[in-house]
Amino acid sequence: MSLLPNFKLELPTDLKEAISELAGGNVVIAAGATRVLLMSYMHILRPEVVVSIRRIGLREIKVSDELEVEANVTLSAVARNERVRKEFPLVAASASHVADPLVRNKATVVGNVVNAVPYSSMVPAFLLMDGKAKVVGPSGPREISAKDFFVGPLETAQRPDELVTSLTFRRVEGEWGFTEFRTDSQLPIINVGVLRNKKGKVRVAYTGLTAMPNLLDLGTMPSDFRGGYREVRNILQDLSTQVLDDLRSSAEYRLHLASVLTARLLEGMGR
Ligand SMILES: Cc1cc2nc3c(=O)[nH]c(=O)nc-3n(C[C@H](O)[C@H](O)[C@H](O)COP(=O)(O)OP(=O)(O)OC[C@H]3O[C@@H](n4cnc5c(N)ncnc54)[C@H](O)[C@@H]3O)c2cc1C
Repeated sequence: MSLLPNFKLELPTDLKEAISELAGGNVVIAAGATRVLLMSYMHILRPEVVVSIRRIGLREIKVSDELEVEANVTLSAVARNERVRKEFPLVAASASHVADPLVRNKATVVGNVVNAVPYSSMVPAFLLMDGKAKVVGPSGPREISAKDFFVGPLETAQRPDELVTSLTFRRVEGEWGFTEFRTDSQLPIINVGVLRNKKGKVRVAYTGLTAMPNLLDLGTMPSDFRGGYREVRNILQDLSTQVLDDLRSSAEYRLHLASVLTARLLEGMGR
């Protein structure tokens, strides 16, 4: 018996060909394929056709007023890129937190965000930096903002016959923080990203707190802000009925983790 379910592998060499392969039935796009293969080995995913996009180009990291990361750019490439590290440090730090070098050398930033799994390390930065997904399908290109991109648990707004060609991240001047918490598994239980812009406005984003990512506005906070646990815990109370409660962590523990990690990030940013 084969470990992988039987599927037809398509290897288009340009974007147009890739889009045409997406038409019809049970087709799955693979970029780094770290999730597609894992889910197929576990027979959770049983595609008829896998369209690998590794040969269609889209390998550039473009830095201007914004950062644009194309579909075949790996997490390693972003984590190591000098300009990204200097000018978009939250994006580079988030990428460097994913898994280990082996996974990061294969897995793409786009695949990580499109995955929309509750433990995604890249999604907080995508939300905080007013990201956009550029997608192309049979009816042409369009853009989807980060806040409209996540439409349900593990579900994103691009249609099955559309390919995400790149993600953009807006440049934000100010202070930032990123952290995560994981225990025995390779996957984080929770990821937290924080941005304070030059006017002192603070936004925080989570993955792993609820089934879908969260972006919260914490209002204006001074850079010497201290002791935020209670404030953050109160703010998160509104989400308490939606907080994930599973074998990896109870809802109460997740809320506690989110509050502690956010408070630490807020305090750390001012130092
Ligand atoms: C051991 C291990 C540890 C891990 N640890 C972490 C971790 O700490 N944090 C974390 O966030 N993740 C973690 N992951 C998950 C990993 O980051 C994701 O599997 C990876 O980022 C997905 O990228 P990929 O290019 O391999 O995507 P693929 O597996 O190729 O695709 C993932 C999904 O996105 C879709 N997709 C990919 N590219 C496109 C595109 N251009 N357009 C439309 N749809 C597309 C695919 O159809 C599929 O549904 C871990 C995975 C492993 C195996």
